[in-house]
Amino acid sequence: MIPFNIPYVSGKEMACIEDAIQRKNLAGEGFYTKACQEELQKITKAKRVLLTPSCTHALELTALLLDLKEGDEVIMPSFTFVSTANAFVLRGAVPVFVDLRADTMNIDERLIEAAISPKTKAIVVMHYAGVACEMEEIMAIANRHNIKVIEDAAQCLGGYYRGKHLGTIGHFGTFSFHSTKNIHCGEGGALLINDQSLIERAEIIREKGTNRNQFLLGMVDKYSWVDVGSSVLLGELNAAFLFAQLQELETLTQKRQQIWERYLQKLAGLATEIGLPKVPKDCKHNGHIFYLKCRNTEERKDLIDHLKKQEISSVFHYVPLHSSLAGHKFGYFHGADKYTSIESGRLLRLPLFPDLEEESQDRITTLVLDFYQKSL
Ligand SMILES: *Cc1c(COP(=O)(O)O)cnc(C)c1O
Repeated sequence: MIPFNIPYVSGKEMACIEDAIQRKNLAGEGFYTKACQEELQKITKAKRVLLTPSCTHALELTALLLDLKEGDEVIMPSFTFVSTANAFVLRGAVPVFVDLRADTMNIDERLIEAAISPKTKAIVVMHYAGVACEMEEIMAIANRHNIKVIEDAAQCLGGYYRGKHLGTIGHFGTFSFHSTKNIHCGEGGALLINDQSLIERAEIIREKGTNRNQFLLGMVDKYSWVDVGSSVLLGELNAAFLFAQLQELETLTQKRQQIWERYLQKLAGLATEIGLPKVPKDCKHNGHIFYLKCRNTEERKDLIDHLKKQEISSVFHYVPLHSSLAGHKFGYFHGADKYTSIESGRLLRLPLFPDLEEESQDRITTLVLDFYQKSL
């Protein structure tokens, strides 16, 4: 049996967890939280990184920071995880879905400006599979209209656009450390704040609307309720686990990229039958996802069954948000759905995790090749 994913464990997590317990403070913003935040700031060059319980929570923080209210509009792709939209719908904002580019499965930057209305407050981009959206064009549009950009960079640790780490180009970026991501702690996330003027308020909102952070730094002699807020901290046990994983980031990314490249090589002969991922020259991806695109949804179902019979697990995502029950209720699609539904209906992800052995990978690619020879 080859599973779709095996969450990585380095073996050094337990030592960090034990050390965290010895330190006798397991609440948020302790030793390991700070260590992870510093490490992430070093890796990404973000101005400030705050660990959160999930990427979903980090996205919700951005919606609070932008003071979004009933009827505000937020432009985003429909091909994304539900949290990209949910975080803003919780504040009463309306997701305005825009079509994607078939080559990267990312939002089509050429369609964004036409979707902007006087109610538009933000653009949320999602870099699919750690491959960047066309950020230069997107930032130029946002600046022209004075709206904020949030990068849902949940899949992006180790991914770059023109030398900049993903999540550091927009006003905010968000990471996920869910066990399905490259580096994880079961459940976890981070908010990246790239605009100096938004840091203090982010710290306040994350600490239940109090200025506790300033108090801990000795800047005020008492802390109290100063703004809206919530508890959006990651506990120290999770942060300790995450810290151990972060030490392995480079090797893990390299391993994933090697597996990704190998898939591409082995399947290159099928380039006329199936779609294969493309990485624009400005992007350095992190090997998060390897996907192929079948000719249609029926063929995808047959290929999944074909692999499953040989005990290989392959999966697909996402049901486009505009065609889901809640997406229909809370948002709308702007312009024509030329690619979102069709392309997402063809996409299939193959197993990819650092410990996937070459032998197993060869079994997978051989079966995919078999499948197409048979069906041709
Ligand atoms: C994984 C993922 C999320 C959610 O991350 P959590 O940490 O589970 O909240 C959000 N957006 C995208 C694009 C993701 O891939």
